[in-house]
Amino acid sequence: MSGAPQGRDADAAELRLFAEAERATARAYAPYSGYAVGAALVAESGRAYLGVNVENASYPAGLCAERAALAAAVAAGERRPRTVAVAAGSGADCLPCGVCLQALAEFGDVDVVARTGGAVRVLRLRALLAAPFAAAGGEWSAAGGPSHRDGEDAG
Ligand SMILES: [Zn+2]
Repeated sequence: MSGAPQGRDADAAELRLFAEAERATARAYAPYSGYAVGAALVAESGRAYLGVNVENASYPAGLCAERAALAAAVAAGERRPRTVAVAAGSGADCLPCGVCLQALAEFGDVDVVARTGGAVRVLRLRALLAAPFAAAGGEWSAAGGPSHRDGEDAG
């Protein structure tokens, strides 16, 4: 594990969310890497939003499953993601990439449910990304999000 955050065991609801992410991997579009990923994100409303990785012949144009789920949630009007599960179709360990951690941090701290060290664990986003980029500096605020989000609540 080389010093990676350990997190805690997933509860029953988190395991169900992880299973949704695993099922979503069947719809991933990953013809180049063959590495299917699914994500299931629960927002403040309690609704869940799914995402899959969507690769592209122009590799940088590809999109990760977590950001696809985040975009679906935001498009539905959500602004407070609470929990995001991410799963690889292979069943291998799979934590969000740095770009996805940053994208999620825009909306505050969340629980990340993922297989790591062979077990489904729950890790806080801020433990995975200690210093997110923010216009006012990379500090997490007491409110739970990067400092530039203080006092802002999209409506
Ligand atoms: Zn990613």
